[in-house]
Amino acid sequence: MRKVVVIGGGAAGLMAAYAAQNEGAEVTLLERNEKLGKKIYITGKGRCNLTNDCPPDEFLQNVVRGGKFLAGAVRAFPPEKMMEFCERFSLPVKIERGNRVFPVSDHASDVTKMLERACRSVGVDIHLNEYVKEIGILHSTMRDIVSDKAAYSCHAVVIATGGLSYPSTGSTGDGLHFAKALGHRLIPCVPSLVGLNCRGDFAKLQGVSLKNVCLFARRGGKVIFSEQGEMLLTHYGISGPLVLTLSALINRLPLKEVELFIDFKPALDSETLNARLVRDFTERKNEQMKNVMRGLLPAALCIPVLNAANISPAKQANAVTKEERLALVKALKAFPIEPVSLRGFSEAVVTSGGVDLKEISPKTMESKLQNGVYFAGEVLDVDAFTGGFNLQIAFSTGYLAGRAAAQAGNLAE
Ligand SMILES: Cc1cc2nc3c(=O)[nH]c(=O)nc-3n(C[C@H](O)[C@H](O)[C@H](O)COP(=O)(O)OP(=O)(O)OC[C@H]3O[C@@H](n4cnc5c(N)ncnc54)[C@H](O)[C@@H]3O)c2cc1C
Repeated sequence: MRKVVVIGGGAAGLMAAYAAQNEGAEVTLLERNEKLGKKIYITGKGRCNLTNDCPPDEFLQNVVRGGKFLAGAVRAFPPEKMMEFCERFSLPVKIERGNRVFPVSDHASDVTKMLERACRSVGVDIHLNEYVKEIGILHSTMRDIVSDKAAYSCHAVVIATGGLSYPSTGSTGDGLHFAKALGHRLIPCVPSLVGLNCRGDFAKLQGVSLKNVCLFARRGGKVIFSEQGEMLLTHYGISGPLVLTLSALINRLPLKEVELFIDFKPALDSETLNARLVRDFTERKNEQMKNVMRGLLPAALCIPVLNAANISPAKQANAVTKEERLALVKALKAFPIEPVSLRGFSEAVVTSGGVDLKEISPKTMESKLQNGVYFAGEVLDVDAFTGGFNLQIAFSTGYLAGRAAAQAGNLAE
């Protein structure tokens, strides 16, 4: 019987182990942690947004890097199949806003338990607390996988060790080292779906949550991002849904070339907003501007926005000149934020970069350089926006890699 070793008991590794064993291979899964799926536990704020209920074409529009490469895997094992898989292994799921799929229980741990149940149902041999140190070279049709406890001779190995994000969950980039040692080219890794450190004093703004604002970015005078939604001001700068999405698109650009702005009133064009200010200033003519602004903005933002418009917070509304009012309209429609750097891997939801896709077969996830070596999940140079897409990428690539690792063995024998 073909022997397959899967390195990593996360989303991709668990799916690969199930698929390979289900296809007739004898699978050993090696996980360094004391439990499986440590990262899955913290996904979706503990609820695990495990996939997105959309057709493959729509899915691929949400992939930032590797969309073309992933097309085959996402079609072979689409969200629909993942949801069926959950039901088959007794995990009822529900669909929420934006087609996000969660377990009905709202417990991420139930997703890990379901994946473990699936693996055990077909007989995968799961080893916990076992750290893989090295992947040996091919001898005839076998190679050794060396852990801190033993060496395993196998026909195929699936490397599903994750990327570099949240290293506390066990994803410390070991798969990238294995890939490099096997001769693979690595695309440099950068954090993605992460907050941005920004210049300025954000201490007083910490905790301000902005809803229905538009965040837009310009580079070289061209708008490169513009989206309406929610964001969060933090002690270091900005975060929240809009910022995570933006980070995936600018994480390889020199940030000093990126200009960022918040439109606090995207529903009003400048003319309408100006008319609203005229009305407010007339109705509250004897009040100080810092108080008048409270009708328009969260309290903590009133003074920074007045500063951006060069209006003294103590000035009375009826003393504001037309030029000052127009400057205020501008500050409300395009409040400037200066991004300095991305937050680190320890806070990034995913890693962008990894094993170069040019050297991997998109049909099987097998290395084009090394027979019997397969990659799955975040270790590859693939990443997507939030919404369940990243876990589904792990499941789709894991499924394909596991199945191919078992089949290739059968064909070769
Ligand atoms: C806070 C947070 C929230 C997230 N929420 C979502 C969400 O709701 N929906 C979504 O789609 N995505 C989400 N993601 C992203 C998603 O979790 C990952 O993209 C996905 O888990 C990647 O799966 P993976 O199997 O490739 O890697 P990982 O989940 O990182 O698994 C890799 C495994 O390999 C093990 N390993 C590593 N090296 C070795 C070694 N040498 N020997 C043995 N074992 C080893 C690790 O311990 C780990 O268990 C979130 C990520 C974070 C950090």
